[in-house]
Amino acid sequence: SLRRMSSIPPPECLFKEMNIPNRQLFGPGPSTMPPIIGSSQAQPLLGHLHPEFVEIMSQVRLGLQYVFKTRNAYTFAVSGTGHAGMEAAILNLAERGETLLVAKAGIWGQRAADLGRRLGLKVEVVEVGDGEVVPVSSIEEAAKRVKPAVIFVCHGESSTGIVQPLEGLSKIAHDNGGLILVDTVASLGGAPFDMDALGVDCVYSATQKVLNAPPGLAPISFSDRAIQKIKNRKERVASFYFDALELGNYWGCDGEMRRYHHTAPISTVYALREALAIVAKKGIDNLIEQHIENASALYSQLGEAGMSMFVEKKENRLPCLHTIKVPEGVDWKAVQSNLFGQGIEVAGGLGATMGKIFRVGTFGQNSEPAKAKDVVNKFIQMSSPGDNGEK
Ligand code: PMP
Repeated sequence: SLRRMSSIPPPECLFKEMNIPNRQLFGPGPSTMPPIIGSSQAQPLLGHLHPEFVEIMSQVRLGLQYVFKTRNAYTFAVSGTGHAGMEAAILNLAERGETLLVAKAGIWGQRAADLGRRLGLKVEVVEVGDGEVVPVSSIEEAAKRVKPAVIFVCHGESSTGIVQPLEGLSKIAHDNGGLILVDTVASLGGAPFDMDALGVDCVYSATQKVLNAPPGLAPISFSDRAIQKIKNRKERVASFYFDALELGNYWGCDGEMRRYHHTAPISTVYALREALAIVAKKGIDNLIEQHIENASALYSQLGEAGMSMFVEKKENRLPCLHTIKVPEGVDWKAVQSNLFGQGIEVAGGLGATMGKIFRVGTFGQNSEPAKAKDVVNKFIQMSSPGDNGEK
């Protein structure tokens, strides 16, 4: 009968074990996860409003305030990957018909612009060529002209490997009546960032890059100015799931009694808590310094091997994700697949940089000198022109 018989047989593959090789993730993310973070996910589940879990959420908030360098009350993690942070930020900060000014240096600016258009915002874009940073003067000129409600910049543009200068941007946003929003998905912990000193109104990030945690949460923080704007919206945010005030209540940011908003991904929150503990013990500034020193060593290592960085100016390079020109006569796909065969992931370009560059991420623990050096050596061996990575 209908109640008993399924005409769909159970999939054979599910009777076997999953195949998960132990791969070193040196691409643009996710990065290799330390066992201590992984094992936290095997801990028993708690309910999403149990006092012990609420305590862990508070610890995560304190850890995020520490890494973002902010005292903002509305500092928490959105359930979802980096994109969820982007959606939550733009949805809450801007209202239909307002202007979003995007500083575009690669695909992440492009993505923010696309999202803005989907949300019915007027989108203005200031763009530069791949491998360049957007000059602050161009952002200022555009802001004066279009009076944006929000200015979007991507701090670490992972498609090209630049780190976008942020100094002066909050003043430009505020002087023109708007807010400054920064994507730090690929840069948080791997390049200097100080939310409060920079006067940033909203920042979001992700867990699977420098933090070495599994993907699934988007750390986010809103300044008081941003929260005021959100509280004074004419229309409600067109998403329940991403409503910053609702999320903030659930995360204990508003001092009111916590209401159920959604079921937090409990195990992923444990993992983020452990990842933040590693950063707290090491010190955020030491972590950033480790990436900078490692990057410097890597530039010399690659330079000695005759390879060139894609981003010309050293000061514009993101210290945790390195973009390297594919040498003449080298088949980048062969290099990538040969390294893959050795259990190491590095990536090719993304969007317009596809085929032109390699992207090597040394996020978090992957930036420990010995580990990074070893992987870069293998990468250099594979990428020497002439052998086409065929060794
Ligand atoms: N912004 C930047 C700068 C990124 O590098 C990425 C991920 N590569 C994202 C946003 C999107 O994050 P996710 O893939 O976690 O949704």
